[in-house]
Amino acid sequence: MMLYDVLVIGGGHAGTEAAALASRYGARVLLVTQNLETIGQMSCNPAIGGIAKGTVVREVDALGGIMGRATDLSRIQFRMLNRSKGPAVWSPRAQCDRGLYRRSVRWLLERLPNIHFAQGTVASLLFESGPQVSGVRLTDGRRYQARSVVLTAGTFLRGRIHLGLDTQIPAGRAGEGPSVEMVEDLVNNGLTVERFKTGTPPRIDGRSVNSGALERQDGEDQPYWFSFHEKAPHPKQLPCFLTWTKPETQEIIERHLQESALYGGAISGRGPRYCPSIEDKVVRFPNAQRHQVFLEPEGLETSEMYVNGLSTSLPPAVQLEYLRSVPGLEQVQMTRPGYAIEYDYFPPTQLDATLAVRGFPGLFFAGQINGTTGYEEAAGQGVVAGLNSAAFAQEREPIAIGRGDGFIGVMVDDLVHRGVDEPYRLFTSRAEYRILLRQDNALRRFLPLAERLNLLPDEELDAALSRMGREDEVMQTAQLTTITPDEAAPVLEAVESPKITQSLKISELARRPGVSLGELFRAAGQDVDEDDTTWADIECKYEGYIAREHEMIAKLQKMERYELPEGLDYFSLNAVSYEAREKLDQVRPGTLGQAGRIPGVTPSDLQGLAIEIARSTSR
Ligand SMILES: Cc1cc2nc3c(=O)[nH]c(=O)nc-3n(C[C@H](O)[C@H](O)[C@H](O)COP(=O)(O)OP(=O)(O)OC[C@H]3O[C@@H](n4cnc5c(N)ncnc54)[C@H](O)[C@@H]3O)c2cc1C
Repeated sequence: MMLYDVLVIGGGHAGTEAAALASRYGARVLLVTQNLETIGQMSCNPAIGGIAKGTVVREVDALGGIMGRATDLSRIQFRMLNRSKGPAVWSPRAQCDRGLYRRSVRWLLERLPNIHFAQGTVASLLFESGPQVSGVRLTDGRRYQARSVVLTAGTFLRGRIHLGLDTQIPAGRAGEGPSVEMVEDLVNNGLTVERFKTGTPPRIDGRSVNSGALERQDGEDQPYWFSFHEKAPHPKQLPCFLTWTKPETQEIIERHLQESALYGGAISGRGPRYCPSIEDKVVRFPNAQRHQVFLEPEGLETSEMYVNGLSTSLPPAVQLEYLRSVPGLEQVQMTRPGYAIEYDYFPPTQLDATLAVRGFPGLFFAGQINGTTGYEEAAGQGVVAGLNSAAFAQEREPIAIGRGDGFIGVMVDDLVHRGVDEPYRLFTSRAEYRILLRQDNALRRFLPLAERLNLLPDEELDAALSRMGREDEVMQTAQLTTITPDEAAPVLEAVESPKITQSLKISELARRPGVSLGELFRAAGQDVDEDDTTWADIECKYEGYIAREHEMIAKLQKMERYELPEGLDYFSLNAVSYEAREKLDQVRPGTLGQAGRIPGVTPSDLQGLAIEIARSTSR
């Protein structure tokens, strides 16, 4: 029987990135998934990116992942969110053609060396010596051997769809069966599972929408590519439409609230607070006159639309009734009803910082099964699990991505040390150093790691290095070139910034809010590519903040890296509160920094911990 280095279970966003990164790190990979046609399937919204998430896509791309490239190949509308708030918090987001995205993921995977595919449902893991994983058994009896296994089963673990109170369907998502045997196998092996829920809105036939009555939203024309390595041609761009619920919509939902799976008591798992269903919105904001609804195209070759904002677990007949109360949707045809889904996840405190399952050498978990929600969160974890499963299989050093490195590091650290009590989603506020963790500098942050691990072929590495070289050149030119008051006047006037009275370096003037480096270059008679100026523009503007965050990192790194002895008996530490001792014993952090981020561990507990360790090591 063929022995693979890495076997990935699941072809969703975590599984495909895990397979890609394991392949790039030299592993022979087998991707086993229930249906090869649904590799890269977007279970919910056909959009990639957004606040913090867009930055993760670029981090994944910088390391050689596929999400950014697949988005570039399939995007049908692009917007840079937060444009009015200043470039440090800009967040790229793209609406994608669902089918094209899926096909692009498959195509991009097939371009990578040593990735093999098998369609089938994994029923159980195989173990060789004790808890060391050695492969998988499929429900049809096939067996595959591997040195390490990455499980990325998404919402499929004992998944149950709810359509109103009375209809419950065992499923991983609409139209696809759940994964039951495997989770039972893992529970029998001693792992803990809990239950979460999520939901999706109905889809409609765009031909039945009166779009003339609605606000049209076109994407941006400015060129932008998620990928640092390739500038793929974008497909034709399509508009979205904006509408609002009416008091009548609210009244229909209130009248049928008890028929909702969420409010009628059929679902017990917790759901994502930040993606509320329309039932949640109506209950939480009873006095709101209206709620925003975006109609988003599903693709270039279909008229179907995604109704963003109306996620629900009400019966289909009620969904159609409230849809038709929304302006522009009076005659709407519903193509697929919305639904809620409950599923098992593994509390991620059972993992270490490489996403390896503690106590099961060679087993890694990534994606929604770790209690997260979102494609980008899944992709980021796929990268970590993919690299580390390949490292494990090839007996190389584990690869840790820290909080200061990127949002991927922030997320993994939050998951394994803090755990989750609701589906975890990334926000910029989760990062301590958010001015440093930006979408424009993801390549600078991750290229050194990609280079060290040899993840990129020569032509991609050359493209990345020459991009950074061009950005550096822009910065140097900005620091050397002066602009006269006359040249600067129109640029400053346009953003109502005071005039200058003597010539200044372009890099100094670019510090002013609203004044763009690109505009200053053009005013001074220099031609620059906009894509190459963003990084230098932000570095000039936020120079002070950036320097302060670097200082903070240096200070915190001292504490962050203070290693805690393995096998420490936390219950013997009298200078630490009992609650903190329990938490520390449960999570078993590797460093003092990680200990400090466990909820319930206070600064005085940390001080006590440091003192007790210093005392015991000096004995
Ligand atoms: C109804 C619904 C609504 C959602 N709403 C939102 C939302 O509003 N916002 C948001 O951010 N995210 C939402 N999500 C979540 C989003 O889809 C996931 O976060 C994301 O897809 C997770 O990626 P993943 O790779 O972990 O899992 P998935 O994309 O679910 O992929 C899992 C893969 O594993 C395969 N698989 C499962 N079990 C086995 C097995 N035993 N053997 C072989 N293969 C197996 C499946 O076939 C699938 O390919 C929603 C998901 C669903 C289902």
